[in-house]
Amino acid sequence: MKLTKVIRLEILKPANDDWKTVGSRLREMQRATAQALNHCIRKYYLEAAPKVEELKRRNEKITAKAVKGKQSNTAELGSMFGSVFNSYVYGTIDNIARQRWNTDWFDVMVRGEKSLPSYRRDCPIFVRARGVNLREKVADEFINRSIDIKLQPKTNNIIPTDNFILSNRSFDESRTAIWNRLRSGEYKLGTIQLLYHKRKKKWFVNLSYSFEAESVKELDPNVRVGADLGLAVPVCLAVNNGYGRAYLKEEGESIQSFRRQIERRRNALRRNERGILERRSGHGRKHKIETIEKLRELENNFRRTANHRLSRAVVNFALKHRAGVIVMENLEGFKEEHAEDKFLSSWTYFELQTMIKQKADEVGIYVETVEPKYTSQRCSKCGHIEKANRNGRQFKCCSCGQTFDADYNAARNIATIDIAKIIKETKISEDDNAAANQPQS
Ligand SMILES: [Zn+2]
Repeated sequence: MKLTKVIRLEILKPANDDWKTVGSRLREMQRATAQALNHCIRKYYLEAAPKVEELKRRNEKITAKAVKGKQSNTAELGSMFGSVFNSYVYGTIDNIARQRWNTDWFDVMVRGEKSLPSYRRDCPIFVRARGVNLREKVADEFINRSIDIKLQPKTNNIIPTDNFILSNRSFDESRTAIWNRLRSGEYKLGTIQLLYHKRKKKWFVNLSYSFEAESVKELDPNVRVGADLGLAVPVCLAVNNGYGRAYLKEEGESIQSFRRQIERRRNALRRNERGILERRSGHGRKHKIETIEKLRELENNFRRTANHRLSRAVVNFALKHRAGVIVMENLEGFKEEHAEDKFLSSWTYFELQTMIKQKADEVGIYVETVEPKYTSQRCSKCGHIEKANRNGRQFKCCSCGQTFDADYNAARNIATIDIAKIIKETKISEDDNAAANQPQS
């Protein structure tokens, strides 16, 4: 299913800093857009009116198909507004007018319940996506994001470009993610509008974008995917409504071999460190620092790419199972539970979780976290909790004898509804039993 959504970004100023000229041009465009829309709408009604009257007179069924106009108004718009906006928006304006006719005509023309729709002067300015360019550059540690828009009519066969600098206030986590996806082409830019907010006295740009998503409606809130994060297998997934599972393993192998590579190169650099310090060679030292920075960047890029792939795979797995919820371990507890793994830097997992959350949000999957304590010691079949249940990758329940892959067992626990409560109750009843079994003194 294709989803279309919109983000609204605040315009800080035109890049040429000339608000006076650009602002008055934008206001003129607003007025012209309203006039153009009203003109086209009126034409559609005028064209339909005699057909509606005729059908009424003959007492026949009045359908959109029978009365709909066939003409296009783009040529007329060209002669009327050619000096205000670029020809590429005529089609857009005509389409919007036609859509408006489609939704309103029956109420207006047959029922007489509505008056002819009309746009006022503060209406949005429509921009065609082609020729729109999303720019980003880093200057003095600030990210400068701007957007190129072609609004003005051609002069000497060239369409002039306006560049608007966007306010960084607009860029919270989710808008930044969408912006980046639009820039990378992962999301496709749709219609664009410029709007003036009267109360805030500011201009905004609405970017609509589309992407492929599974049907959100079909997700079942009772189907939960548990995600167990680890080292050998970065992510193991299980569902609570059957035996569906996935080991996102290859990613782990490539992450680890890449890490080993980086580690070797870093150690080699460290071995040279003493010599460089003794020689006090400024050049050598600078070179070394640059190389360590470079290694760090390589590692960061690699990790980010791997986390993008992993998070995509997690969300796809959830969609495949129509799961309405993804459950992950709460990272505070996670650090304790996995303290023995020296490679496990919690921030890598923090990044992975953030990406899973973002991608899940986009398709309407809810994300929950659970305290990971005991999730790897509990038998997901009978509920028995004991440290001896788990032995490395193997899980064998000391109570019911069931064997599992340890990661899968943990993921199944994580996917269980109310797992925190269940574990707490199990521990309390175990403690009670232990107390009851104490010999009386
Ligand atoms: Zn068991």
